[in-house]
Amino acid sequence: MRALKPDLYSVPQGPTSIPQLHGGRCRCGYVFFPMQSYGCEKCGATGDALTPSALDARGALVASARVLLHAAKDRTPPFVVVSVKLDDGPVVRSLLEQDRAERLPIGTRMQGLVAEVGRADDGEALVDLRFAPVQPA
Ligand SMILES: [Zn+2]
Repeated sequence: MRALKPDLYSVPQGPTSIPQLHGGRCRCGYVFFPMQSYGCEKCGATGDALTPSALDARGALVASARVLLHAAKDRTPPFVVVSVKLDDGPVVRSLLEQDRAERLPIGTRMQGLVAEVGRADDGEALVDLRFAPVQPA
């Protein structure tokens, strides 16, 4: 399988591991996503003050919206857009793995995964990042 957006995340190697997001960390301690070298949003440092940092796709739900109508023909509704505050700090926006009419409570523990979204020209599966609520044990 191949990541649809390989600059943004890595496909997990094992069935129980979760995707790693390609974020960054500043010398001041600020963590951001995605990795960029323009400058720290907190202290303004540039250059070697900013280093790539792998972030676990784990966090808490901070917002969600269910889309029932979309202008793009390749985006078939309904689907749920979620904002997840990663445990490492940054807030990322993605889609819920599966559509659901019932709203997830804010603060729900969320975990990233990769889901097949299509096929490359050579037949290899293309996967993209999604989030799902962590099932209580
Ligand atoms: Zn900084």
